[in-house]
Amino acid sequence: LLAIAAFALSSCALKTKTPAEDAVSIKVSQLLAQMTVAEKVGQMTQVDFALVAAPKDKLADYPVDTAKLETAILKYHVGSILNTPYDQAQPLATWRQISLAVQQTTAQSRLKIPVIYGIDAIHGATYLKGATLFPQAINMAATFNPELSFQEGEITARELRTAGLLWNFSPVMDIGRQPLWPRLWETYGEDVQLASILGSAYIKGHQGNDFAAPDKAATCLKHFVGYSFPITGRDRTPAWLGERMLREYFLPTFAAGIKAGSPTVMVNSGEVDGIPGHANYRYLTTILREEMGFKGFVVSDWEDIKRLYTRDKVAASPREAVKMAVMAGVDMSMVPYDFSFSELLLDLVNSHEVPMSRIDEAVSRILTVKYQTGLFGPAQTFLPAAANFATPAAAASNRQAARESIVLAKNAQSVLPLKKSANILVTGPTANLRNVLNGGWTITWQGSDESVYPQDQPTVLEALKTKATGKIGYVEGSSFDTVKDIDKVLAELKNYDYVLLCLGEKPYTETLGNIDSLALEPAQMQLATAVLAAGKPVVLLMLGGRPRLITPIAEQAAGVVLGFLPGMEGAAAIADILYGDYNPDGRLPISYPKHANSFNHYDHKPAEAFENNTYDPLYPFGHGLSYSTFVTRGLTLEKNRLAMGENLKLSVQVANTGPVKGKETVLVYLRDVAASVSRPNKQLKAFKKVELTPGQSETLHFTLTPDDLSFIGVDLQRLIEPGDFTVMVGNETAAFSVAP
Ligand code: BGC
Repeated sequence: LLAIAAFALSSCALKTKTPAEDAVSIKVSQLLAQMTVAEKVGQMTQVDFALVAAPKDKLADYPVDTAKLETAILKYHVGSILNTPYDQAQPLATWRQISLAVQQTTAQSRLKIPVIYGIDAIHGATYLKGATLFPQAINMAATFNPELSFQEGEITARELRTAGLLWNFSPVMDIGRQPLWPRLWETYGEDVQLASILGSAYIKGHQGNDFAAPDKAATCLKHFVGYSFPITGRDRTPAWLGERMLREYFLPTFAAGIKAGSPTVMVNSGEVDGIPGHANYRYLTTILREEMGFKGFVVSDWEDIKRLYTRDKVAASPREAVKMAVMAGVDMSMVPYDFSFSELLLDLVNSHEVPMSRIDEAVSRILTVKYQTGLFGPAQTFLPAAANFATPAAAASNRQAARESIVLAKNAQSVLPLKKSANILVTGPTANLRNVLNGGWTITWQGSDESVYPQDQPTVLEALKTKATGKIGYVEGSSFDTVKDIDKVLAELKNYDYVLLCLGEKPYTETLGNIDSLALEPAQMQLATAVLAAGKPVVLLMLGGRPRLITPIAEQAAGVVLGFLPGMEGAAAIADILYGDYNPDGRLPISYPKHANSFNHYDHKPAEAFENNTYDPLYPFGHGLSYSTFVTRGLTLEKNRLAMGENLKLSVQVANTGPVKGKETVLVYLRDVAASVSRPNKQLKAFKKVELTPGQSETLHFTLTPDDLSFIGVDLQRLIEPGDFTVMVGNETAAFSVAP
């Protein structure tokens, strides 16, 4: 086959500047011209709030140590601060004091350059007490509903802004194809198209058309690039990605995030192909800037410049590490606990080892984003009145997101929905905890401190009790890893009609969540085995960030509900679904493995399903049941033969043929029948979710673009090859070809 057309990953590069952009760049150059070298390297420095915090017991009176803040800003000229005081969510009033103190101190500085405060608002404004905390990203992906992701972005930004915070280290655009990785739940799952669409919707909601608006804030795409695919599954350990895999699976989500307007990118804390993320000039400069057209600034991850020396040994000293990272393309260093980065960088510039042009480039990028966020304006522009915080409308959007994020994976003999009069024995470690619904990045970094969770947000057990008219009993049975009172569970069982078996994972974030196996702890397996053997119908509810293996349990259970990390409204949403107050419509954004060490993905290569090989997960990508039935038929292509570069329009009808109203997600897959490199058996190219009442049907229209038909060819360029393609929707397929 002949390679005909090459497509650039992104087309942003040639855009001309708008008048507003021109005005900003004039201001930036004027400011830059007045700055000393020390002021410039200060702008490139981000420190932790710990360096300027008041003692913990004084926090409530006044959160900042004024003298320390002055040292950071007036002496070291730091450009950015991050994180929450003492790893704990703070009340809005405290945040407003922090934001004001920071900006009042910068107002005393020579050039009055504002500090940009960065925060991990991972599923809502994580570190603001009482904020609306959404389902985690893996759940948002399971909604297959970009509108909900948009709303999450919108609400998160609005709540952040009431605290004066306008830079969010979110969304994670890493692709989730390594289920052991303890940050899988921070991703939008295994599919590039789904992650690109959900992530872009989040960014657009978060930033609007102008992130200087009083209810918008800047986002950060992370972690560039290849971070999510460690070969061991352990966080921050090496990935080995061939160039084709990088370009097919890991760059496109970032390209989508750049296109959606995110002004910052955070670097991969690990290494790819032997090159640490922070030393990778080709990734951070050649690909990110020159190829993908990214114009914003690049921030390091936590302490990672130093690690080029202390961990990776690619630098012979901390000083060389700084030089290496800055020259590779890191514009700002998340240091974060001292001022060594600026001291070393200052020395490197003074001794002409790092050229001034590189410093000016980095500082210009940072100042540009500061102008774009409105930070240079008066305080009220970045610290608007604290209205619109955790509103009932935000809670309603969150509840809907939680409902749409829960996957009904099995429903034998329609055991679900349960009658409210049913007597249910609830058991297992995830039944009566709030933290298991939220996971990491909730109120604290690890999200595990149960005592800090708002008591008015129910656990699964509490949520069931608020709806039930029958008896709801509870015996813990087992903790995550220790058998408790299984005998009591078995003794109680005779008084109940059903068992709700609640298993899963306790919360964790980053390396603290490393595991060696997806197997469930023996204690949980023991509880499950005992309960299943007792003969009452069992509904299994799984909560947690990874697809822990449930194969033998799922085979015997009557119902299986996969909740992942549905957030603060998660338990209420689960109760809605278990009782049929909401018809489930979540779909799996990952392949749920059946066996240990058998992790493949829906978009597998032909060889993965050839002879003795199979794509055989417990539940495939896109799987999810409803209490209704839907039929998709009448797949029609507008044309069967396309010219090179032409779009393909197609339509399909979807009907609700069951007894209740519900939402159905129609997934459009494409296969390139024969190509010069082996192509996936199918790839998701488009999807739509529609709500239909019983008997109602709707015609859905889709357009596939030339980009959807392209792939990374033999010479590692993106191209389209003429020839045959197959479109797959539901049980139907249709063929078309692209002319040479
Ligand atoms: C994580 C980042 C996070 C940063 C700041 C790092 O450890 O990898 O995702 O944004 O900390 O908290």
